[in-house]
Amino acid sequence: MAEKLLAVKGMNDILPPESARWEWLEDKVRALMARYAYRNIRTPILEYTQLFVRGIGEVTDIVEKEMYSFEDRSDKNGDHAHLTMRPESTASVVRAVTEHNLLYEGGKRLYYMGPMFRRERPQRGRYRQFHQIGAEALGFAGPEVDAELILLAAALWKEIGITGWRLEINSLGQPDERALHRLQLIAHFEQHANELDEDARRRLHSNPLRILDTKNPAMKAVVDSAPRLIDFLGAKSLAHFDALKAILDANGVPWTLNHRLVRGLDYYNLTVFEFITDQLGAQGTLCAGGRYDYLVEQIGGKPAPAVGWALGVERVLELLQESGQAVPPLAPDAYAVVPDAAALPLALRTLQTLRAAGVSVQMHASSGADGMGSMKSQFKKADASGARFALIFGETELASGCVAVKPLRAGKAEAASEQTLHPLADAAAWAPVLLA
Ligand code: ATP
Ligand code: MG
Repeated sequence: MAEKLLAVKGMNDILPPESARWEWLEDKVRALMARYAYRNIRTPILEYTQLFVRGIGEVTDIVEKEMYSFEDRSDKNGDHAHLTMRPESTASVVRAVTEHNLLYEGGKRLYYMGPMFRRERPQRGRYRQFHQIGAEALGFAGPEVDAELILLAAALWKEIGITGWRLEINSLGQPDERALHRLQLIAHFEQHANELDEDARRRLHSNPLRILDTKNPAMKAVVDSAPRLIDFLGAKSLAHFDALKAILDANGVPWTLNHRLVRGLDYYNLTVFEFITDQLGAQGTLCAGGRYDYLVEQIGGKPAPAVGWALGVERVLELLQESGQAVPPLAPDAYAVVPDAAALPLALRTLQTLRAAGVSVQMHASSGADGMGSMKSQFKKADASGARFALIFGETELASGCVAVKPLRAGKAEAASEQTLHPLADAAAWAPVLLA
């Protein structure tokens, strides 16, 4: 036998029945997004590397070490394109919105779902291909849209049955406010240089704000005593933050202020937030977002404010599984038992009619040219499929122009639930029997 080929490390197959949980979540998201008037956007997985280098910031973890980038083969002109598999979608959405001039007639509310790629150390809740669902509102400057997005996420948790989350918020102010804070932050960390780990020392002059985001418990003291960004915010930034908090309060969405919340990406300003759970160990951030009023301009668009979030699908589903939520059942309504292969053309025609009428039917499949297999083995398969009914295309039934419908899941009390005969010619008319 040939050598067994395996999936790439950190990239997962999503198999049935687990995939049913994914579809279930995606359906919930589509319905919810529609209720908030967010529209679906789909962008390519490959983008020019430059989009992410400029968009995400050159000194983020993602751009420094996590991107899957490669040089494409040269095209006719001999140019090599530097391409990257998207590590996130905000930059792509902004690129698409700018490229197609979507903001010229006002703001746009968009959402996406799909795979993202980051070369990280695979572990629970952290994969190299993972999936995000994201919502972005572009062209809106007011705090009510920040609030709307947070309310949308909270509504999603409620809709899918996630409880026990915590919402942390912070304000990063504006670049000029951050510049002042940055100087004092660097001074503080320089004073405590011996308490910094290697990562922090590397970031000290490139991105000191990110040091606040450290996951190293040994640095807790030096980070807790650092100057707080909120103390550097002017009246306008504070008013934006206060307006957001008032809307959250009025809607009963609990929040806590986390001065260390800065986000991994460089492009945020004003509002940042994370929904966190304690039930998933170290990878507890379910959803993260914030305002990024300068990104559109940075990617070459006409300046436009924007705000959004992205949630990690694997983490959300893991949490649902953890809390004992069952995978939605996958059983078909009916299983077609066909004793004689000669009946297949007629049987399949009937199944097509039933399916068109909304019935989910699994057909018995033979093991090849030597017949359909015994009735006993077909009924065993019918049982295992979880179907509620067997459709029996037997010789006697067919002779009378009928198919027999036999309940498979009837309890003992309903032993009388005998099989019934239904005309082949009129399958659409009795299809509801199988949906009952
Ligand atoms: P973390 O601090 O956990 O690395 P991040 O700041 O890199 O997160 P974002 O870029 O904001 O995360 O992505 C938003 C969400 O996507 C995260 O909150 C998380 O739920 C999910 N996510 C990010 N990276 C991964 C990954 N490698 N595997 C699975 N989910 C991920
Ligand atoms: Mg990360």
